[in-house]
Amino acid sequence: MRTIKSKNGEIVVIPSKIVCLGRNYRKHAEELGNVVPEKPIIFIKPNSSLITEGEKIILPPQSRNVHHEVELGVVMRRGKDIPQGNAYDYVLGYCIILDITARDIQDEEKKRNAPWTFAKGFDTFAPVSLVVDRERIKNPQDLRIRLWVNGELRQDSNTGFMIFGIAEIVEYISSYMTLEEGDIIATGTPEGVGQIRSGDVVEAEIEGIDKVRFEVV
Ligand code: MG
Repeated sequence: MRTIKSKNGEIVVIPSKIVCLGRNYRKHAEELGNVVPEKPIIFIKPNSSLITEGEKIILPPQSRNVHHEVELGVVMRRGKDIPQGNAYDYVLGYCIILDITARDIQDEEKKRNAPWTFAKGFDTFAPVSLVVDRERIKNPQDLRIRLWVNGELRQDSNTGFMIFGIAEIVEYISSYMTLEEGDIIATGTPEGVGQIRSGDVVEAEIEGIDKVRFEVV
């Protein structure tokens, strides 16, 4: 199983799954011509897609259009049927997670009404930062979130623009499945997604959490 370190070096997080939200920022839903959802859209990335800094994003031969998406990752403690009011008691910490997406494969999957598993689940398609303890982030719903490709700013938003907030998401997901210790919730990407190519350098920063850099090959 792939692991992540915490910023203080103490906790090693082992996500059994990465639970992701689709279209959780209005402007991103609109930029891809999608309607804003009434209920959260949920999919899962496998543990095998995780990488940490120093590893590279590998473009798979099956895709000709791989996109970057920067997201706030919420690292969880174990819980099931967690009420919104207690949601943060189950949050271990936060990280940056890139929801790398083979957009052409996803478009094909959408047309066939197939799940997005392959578009989202390639090896190296979930680069993450170190994990910051929950206590160090006063308001996770008010953090500037940015991504650059080769030094050019592509995504620049704030986690306050999420359609479904963290507490609501935790309640919703945990009403369907147990969140295991170390599982990551990827809370969706803001607008500005776009293609990455071999040789590109992707950098991402979330205020107060971390800044990361990944090469694309
Ligand atoms: Mg995403």
